[in-house]
Order: sequence, then structure tokens, then C-alpha cells
Amino acid sequence: MINLASDNVMGASQQVLEALVAANNGPEAAYGSDHHTAEAEAMLAEIFEHEVKVFLVATGTGANALALAALSPPWGAIFCHEESHIADDECGAPEMFTDGAKLIGLPGLNGKFTAEWLETAIARYPKGVVKAVQPAAVSISQVTESGTLYSLAEIAQIGEIARKHDLGFHLDGARFANALVSLGCTPAEMTWKAGVDVVSFGATKNGCFACEAVIFFNPARAEHFGFRRKRSGHTVSKGRLLGAQMTAYLRHDHWLDNAKHANAMAKRLNEGLAALPGVRMPWPTEANEVFAVLPKARAKILSDAGVRAAPWYELSVSLPSGAAIGSDEVFWRFVTSFATKPEEIDRVIALARS
Ligand SMILES: *Cc1c(COP(=O)(O)O)cnc(C)c1O
Repeated sequence: MINLASDNVMGASQQVLEALVAANNGPEAAYGSDHHTAEAEAMLAEIFEHEVKVFLVATGTGANALALAALSPPWGAIFCHEESHIADDECGAPEMFTDGAKLIGLPGLNGKFTAEWLETAIARYPKGVVKAVQPAAVSISQVTESGTLYSLAEIAQIGEIARKHDLGFHLDGARFANALVSLGCTPAEMTWKAGVDVVSFGATKNGCFACEAVIFFNPARAEHFGFRRKRSGHTVSKGRLLGAQMTAYLRHDHWLDNAKHANAMAKRLNEGLAALPGVRMPWPTEANEVFAVLPKARAKILSDAGVRAAPWYELSVSLPSGAAIGSDEVFWRFVTSFATKPEEIDRVIALARS
């Protein structure tokens, strides 16, 4: 079986696993006061070239929902793409942890909305008018749900609107490393230099078992976060579990190497599939996700041979016009990871070609 349904179908990398085993020995302070967690915070401050407040959690949904709760009051509006993970895949956690803030879904092709759309949407919720939710935050995903990337200029444009309207700017970086190595920029450039206030820094999908960091660049924003994390049940008692994963993930550029490998595998798959007759790629492959429209006959050969992909939303509003999925086609998402082997990609391409 070759499972490319997501990058979380793989376990942890060898480095992370070994770090967990090593961290198992001896006593350590609990609830995130362990030395691994302190080291992770110091490493992240260096990587982001900025003072940071870091809170480790076990899930991306927890990271996103708690980060948004730090940015929005219960009567706040949080602007995001209408097919974003926070809107579609978190079972209302952002609404619950913000005590009822409203997610406002913005349209946009390729999983992205523009700064213009954001500005237009903000105007519908006037400040001080009690019948309107009050603009409080904006959230983008990098990598997006369509496997695409915001350019640094696009992030900065959104950051500009956020600053103008006093919105907190959140970046859902479940695949932060994949985006970073693809853009070839620094973590600072992709975040605070472009106006981002809070990052959900994903590590699970790119080599950890369960570890994400909520990173604040302004400590004032993080003032109550410790309480929020605890009361949500996201404060892990044996905090070394998270700290040891994060330090192993960051050490010796492991996170960057993993992401480079995953992206290279996606590029290889994209090129191989795109060259086949009848196969279309409605969204560009810009990180480690490949979205393909395949004739059903080819798709069946893949499934029968044990290749797993994730059937995607055929009615996605992010699809460009003319990309509608035909009744004799399937729309699949393939995600590559640090553990994907080139031979596996070549086998998938050979099967699809046969
Ligand atoms: C995977 C993912 C998350 C995190 O999801 P969890 O399953 O809660 O860890 C968040 N955002 C995006 C875009 C994702 O792909």
C-alpha cells in the first residue's frame, strides 16, 4: 500500500522518535516547565529572529482555536477563506474557544483571498455598531487548503489591511516548513515582517507525532494564553512529551530537510501525473500537496493497486472556472511527507500511466 491521503498517515521521524526515548529518562518539571520546552522556545526565538512567547499543544485545531481566542472577543469577526481549515475542518472549535466569535468566509481562487476582499468584507461590519460583529482578526493558511502559497507580497498586503483596521493577524502554519522552503524566505519574512501577530507552527505533519507551537511575537497578546490552554485541556502534564519533539524537530535543520524532501516528492508526482493524457491539475503544486483530476479508469487502477489518496471536494469554490470535475473523473489530493520514497512516487506514476 502507498498511502498519500495525507502527511499525517506517517509516524514520527527517527530523530524525533529517538529524542522522545531519550527524554523519557529521569524526572523533569511538569506542565511545560521542563528544560526541553524552554529550549524549544529559545530555538524558535532564534529561528524567527524575534522575541517570542511559545505555547506547545498537541493538535493543530487546538493551536488555531486558542490562538484565535487570544485575538478575538466573543462578539468579534474573524476573516478567513471560506474553505479554510478553521472554517471547515475544526468542528466549530474556533467558535467554541472564542466563546462565539463569528468566522466570516471570504471567497477566492486557489484557496486564497485577497487584501481587497478582506477590506470589502470588513466594511460590512462597522465599528461600534452593536448589531454587527466587530472585526477582530484575520487568518490565512500557509500552505492553503488548495496546496498553494501566499507570496510574501500578498501576506504583507493582508497585514497592511489588518494593521489599518486593528485586526490581529493569525497564520495557520500546519505546513509552515513546506511553505517556507518553497518560498525560500526566512521565517521572519513570512510572518512578523509581513504583519503576522500569531502563528500556529505545525510540526506534527512534517516529522513529529503530535506537536504544534502557538507563537506570539507580542507578549501582550499572549498574556492570558496560559489560562486558555489549561482550561481547554491542552496543557500536557508531562510537557517534555511536546518539548522533546519540538527541539528534535528544529535541531540541525531537520524540519527544513523534511519539508524539502516532501516538496520534492510532490513536484515529482505533479510532473509525472500532469504529463498523462486526460489528467489535469486544477491548482499548482507549490508545496507538498498535489491535486489531480483523473479519469475514473486510471483512478481505479491506482486504488486497485493499493494507492490511497483523499477524494477532494468536487464543488470547491476555489477551483478556477472551466475546471469542473466531469462525471467520468475523480478529484484527488495526494500529500507527500518526509517519509515518502521516490520509488513510491514512480510506482504511482507508472500505475497511472498503465
Ligand atoms: C492538518 C491541519 C491542521 C491541524 O489539524 P489537526 O488535525 O487538528 O492537528 C490545521 N490547519 C491545516 C491547514 C491543516 O492542514
